[in-house]
Amino acid sequence: MSDSHKDYLIIVQCHLVKERCSGFHCEKAFHDRSGGFLPYERCNDLRLLTMTCGGCCGRSLQRKLINLLHLSHKRDQIDRSRMVVHLSTCITKESHHGPVCPHLDYLKALIARLDLDIAEDTWISKTAEQRRQQGVYPVKPT
Ligand code: SF4
Ligand code: SF4
Repeated sequence: MSDSHKDYLIIVQCHLVKERCSGFHCEKAFHDRSGGFLPYERCNDLRLLTMTCGGCCGRSLQRKLINLLHLSHKRDQIDRSRMVVHLSTCITKESHHGPVCPHLDYLKALIARLDLDIAEDTWISKTAEQRRQQGVYPVKPT
């Protein structure tokens, strides 16, 4: 799948997980065009913005995105059709950070009502993928 018509990527990350995560791997996946960013393999001139959901239940995401839509259009005439919101892997998949976000459908609904396209996943950890396939989450303390 080519997503070359998108040139403004927004990563939405779990607010709780971001209390202890710098977001390095999300940025690395974007830089390397790996994981959820594989479709942009051939796209060089991309803008990237990251934000958190704002905390459970994610309701403040709507006003953050409205602010972004307003400013990006006002300052740079960027239309929402050029944007796509990537929900970070710590929201969409179980990992050592915890289970899938219990408000995932709500977050998607908030994004969809602003007519923004949604994509799932950012960084895909090989170890976490293996663990998911082996069904070892939640990891028990030893
Ligand atoms: S996907 Fe990984 S790097 Fe990105 S915010 Fe979540 S825990 Fe951090
Ligand atoms: S709503 Fe989901 S993504 Fe946001 S802080 Fe709560 S668990 Fe994390």
